[in-house]
Amino acid sequence: MKKFFYLSLAALFLLAAPLCWGKDLPKVAILATGGTIAGSVESGVATTGYTAGVLTVETLIKAVPEIQSLAVISGRQVCNIDSSNMTDDIWLELASTINDLLARDIDGVVITHGTDTMEETAYFLNMVVKSDKPVVLVGAMRPATAISADGPKNLYNAVALAASPEAKGKGVMISMDDAILSARDAAKTNTMKTSTFKAPNSGSLGAVIDGVPYFYALPAKPHTTATEFDVKGMKTLPKVDILYSYSNDGSAPAAEALVKAGAKGLVIAGSGAGSVHRNQKEALLNLMKNNKTAVVRSSRTGSGLVLIEGDDKKNGFIGADNLNPQKARVLLMLALTKTDDPKKIQEIFNKY
Ligand code: ASP
Repeated sequence: MKKFFYLSLAALFLLAAPLCWGKDLPKVAILATGGTIAGSVESGVATTGYTAGVLTVETLIKAVPEIQSLAVISGRQVCNIDSSNMTDDIWLELASTINDLLARDIDGVVITHGTDTMEETAYFLNMVVKSDKPVVLVGAMRPATAISADGPKNLYNAVALAASPEAKGKGVMISMDDAILSARDAAKTNTMKTSTFKAPNSGSLGAVIDGVPYFYALPAKPHTTATEFDVKGMKTLPKVDILYSYSNDGSAPAAEALVKAGAKGLVIAGSGAGSVHRNQKEALLNLMKNNKTAVVRSSRTGSGLVLIEGDDKKNGFIGADNLNPQKARVLLMLALTKTDDPKKIQEIFNKY
């Protein structure tokens, strides 16, 4: 009898053990792309002069064992670069990998990424991921070797967010410095501070405190499953470049050279509410007329709307709404996969 009791106990343990080992935990995939979060330098006090994109995804995961209590973690190294060198090829690979993982049994994705171009990758994915499961980008401002490195806590919060059912349907997000930001609105605003990411036009969606996400706002614009953009099977994206407008502007030859080099669209980081210097405007009007170049006007101020009216509208200039120049570039690239009609492109900018 006693033997039967102990045998039953052992059988019960064997059956129940997988539940305790995480069968009930959500599955989160970490896709590593490099950046300062994977950065390393000799000195613990150095937060400059380090090499970004050195540590592997396995090292990042091992450095924060606490994430194992939040989710069943898997890791994949997509690339290991300084994000200032981000490419369309990596964006397309990320989009296809994420769509593939989320179509299967993965509940959420975390992308470790350099902070320099994180907002661009995040907005691109916000437009082309075809799932309502959480996708979270995370990075660090201090290399992994620094005293008080911000990467480990940021990664912990990002995994908590990606594992949270509450994060479903909120589009692609950035999780940095305890804040949750929508990919559309997030911008890097400071070269050094750990609190560099802000949403200057709309504010944050919420915060992650001790691994618990708290939401107080929703993204207002369509994203992920609600967009018309699908990059499945695409090998390249239309080329779009950015030009500044400034006093005594001498960039007209640069605009012409960019179009000659293959740019289908140009984004102008205009002064104030998207103004362009007359020296530059003439060249742009010629390119719009003779080369069908799409020209989007955004603002170099860092926040606020750009609306195009009157003759500028008649001539086909497109307003970026409140997207910053680097985000307007992403949307123009995607818009150009659908149309080169400035009126239709303007509708796309009004919508997203
Ligand atoms: N240059 C780095 C990068 O973007 C900066 C960072 O990650 O904070 O990869």
